[in-house]
Amino acid sequence: MKKADVKPFKEMLLVLRARLRGDVSTLADAALSSSGGGRDGSSAVPSHMADMGSDTFEQDNTILLMNNEGETLVQIEGALERIENGVYGSCMECSGKIPKMRLKAIPYTPYCVKCAGELENSQF
Ligand SMILES: [Zn+2]
Repeated sequence: MKKADVKPFKEMLLVLRARLRGDVSTLADAALSSSGGGRDGSSAVPSHMADMGSDTFEQDNTILLMNNEGETLVQIEGALERIENGVYGSCMECSGKIPKMRLKAIPYTPYCVKCAGELENSQF
């Protein structure tokens, strides 16, 4: 795919990534707070992580959602990497071209329609 063709998809991916990360206002924040707050470079590893567990059942749905978003985020990162490598728009499975219509719907998809369908079926 030509660089000029990839550009709108890259922008879509960057917007999606920002949205998933929850930092939609990053640009505005960066512009507003030019004076960085002093972070103390404490390198202590949080040891209380293991304690959070048992009483979080009510949040299961939220966690599930976050996991899915995390997965999408990984997909987006992968797509951005493929853009950098100049292979964006090619199916990772069969190296065929992914139709632009599909990329517009799912800009981070690594597969063409055919392969995505086959991979989905092979899971069951
Ligand atoms: Zn394919």
